[in-house]
Amino acid sequence: MLPKTMRAAVYRGPNDLRLETVPVPRPGPDDLLVKVAVCGVCPTDIKKIQYGTVPPPRIFGHETAGTIVRVGARVHDFRVGERVALHHHVPCLDCHACRHRAFAQCETYKRTGVTAGFEPAGGGFAEFVRVLPFVRPGVVKIPARNSFAEGAMLEPVNTVLKAVKRLSLLPGDAVLVAGQGPIGLMFTRLLQLRGLNVLATDLLETRLRLAKKFGAKWTRLAQSKAGNPASKVGPPRPVLDAAVLAVPSDAALQEALHRVRGAGQVLLFAHTKRGALTELDLASVCVDEKDLLGSYSADFTLQREVARLVFSRQLDVRSLITHRFPLEQAAAAVALAARPTPDSLKILVGDATE
Ligand SMILES: [Zn+2]
Ligand SMILES: [Zn+2]
Repeated sequence: MLPKTMRAAVYRGPNDLRLETVPVPRPGPDDLLVKVAVCGVCPTDIKKIQYGTVPPPRIFGHETAGTIVRVGARVHDFRVGERVALHHHVPCLDCHACRHRAFAQCETYKRTGVTAGFEPAGGGFAEFVRVLPFVRPGVVKIPARNSFAEGAMLEPVNTVLKAVKRLSLLPGDAVLVAGQGPIGLMFTRLLQLRGLNVLATDLLETRLRLAKKFGAKWTRLAQSKAGNPASKVGPPRPVLDAAVLAVPSDAALQEALHRVRGAGQVLLFAHTKRGALTELDLASVCVDEKDLLGSYSADFTLQREVARLVFSRQLDVRSLITHRFPLEQAAAAVALAARPTPDSLKILVGDATE
């Protein structure tokens, strides 16, 4: 028997996440009901919670893994008891945007298909979530040898692999990855797996050490906004074929634009705030043929490749997970993720012990 009510961290307004008792979602005949094991805290959720950019109430959390506890009568591809990772956005594969493989711009994709109640918002910061039929194609079974936590990392890894595939690089090329938080470290590793030489930068030494482990060829301490003298030690300054900005830093963007070779690429991954402006020498685009491009969200068609990378541990995400908070402390988890410390990387919420 399923309980009638459950605990959830409900977003009630800017910076207001409250532990409440809410009804357990009722799955329809085409739905799955999943008992949440863990859910990653994602920067996009943090922004919505901190700045109140969407109306409350909502239950956030979309990097979710758990166990299927109910299968709708018309669902035949899943069974109760299966351990799964969820994908809250799945494109229609049929519209104008999808035909251009611009899945994140598809209207169906923009709908959130996993919910713990209220306006669907992921729901992973609750005990149970309902998986709606249009995102069921994104549900991935977690192999027995892998943990729920690894399953919860599929979504962020997907967003990184999608971005990597936007770069036209040849083996041996040099790529700057600015920012070595969990996302930057994933970039470093995925690029290294493709035979690229990564120059990793960050404000924190601890992260640079990790970047080495994740395959960076060179590391360099970045200059902070306050104007700390940048480290003069470190790598030779390779000609950069591309740069990935995994931090929303203007200084890093200017450096990247300056340092990539002619016809090189600069990819924005963290500049998600509307209205952020910068100066751009347009001749660097027109004459030097430097491409400025962006990548946002995931590519559903990469899900198998992502699962293979994570579950085989070619990209071993386990060392990216530094903190785990019980559901009761979801607000503390979000607060820590919003203000990372030298020893914090990926933060998970959830009561599962494995
Ligand atoms: Zn996310
Ligand atoms: Zn579409």
